[in-house]
Amino acid sequence: MSVILARLHERQAPGAQMVHIFAAEQDSPDGMRKAYCGFTAHYSWLKSVSGLAGMPCELCLLDAPLKVAETSAEVIELPTEIDMAGPLFAIGLRGERVWHEVPSDPIVGDYESRSVVLTVCGCMGWLMPGDPYLDWSRCRECDETR
Ligand SMILES: [Zn+2]
Ligand SMILES: [Zn+2]
Repeated sequence: MSVILARLHERQAPGAQMVHIFAAEQDSPDGMRKAYCGFTAHYSWLKSVSGLAGMPCELCLLDAPLKVAETSAEVIELPTEIDMAGPLFAIGLRGERVWHEVPSDPIVGDYESRSVVLTVCGCMGWLMPGDPYLDWSRCRECDETR
């Protein structure tokens, strides 16, 4: 599942900072692209960004690829405060024992007062401080994307 991060071009909306998340596979004949939150714009109005170049759209963060269903919160105690300066990794929202890479410029959102992050492979995970668990496997898609 791949996603594109984009915001409105300065030409169209000077000062526009909101970064929306779009499914990569969109090919609508009229050139319109729809973000996960429902925001719609012609592709020529959009400028893709590679990281946190503005404000992540929180609605998009919550609706992007993985719906939050069963969470790993029952298995793992999720931190409420995270030291963003230290090492970071992410774990799946669905409770798989897999950890994901966090981009160097992560887009972080809030879900039920926990931090969620867009991982390198393009899915959403819980943001975790420190080093990944040794007995968990590393996400193969994150590896390939890097
Ligand atoms: Zn959005
Ligand atoms: Zn991954």
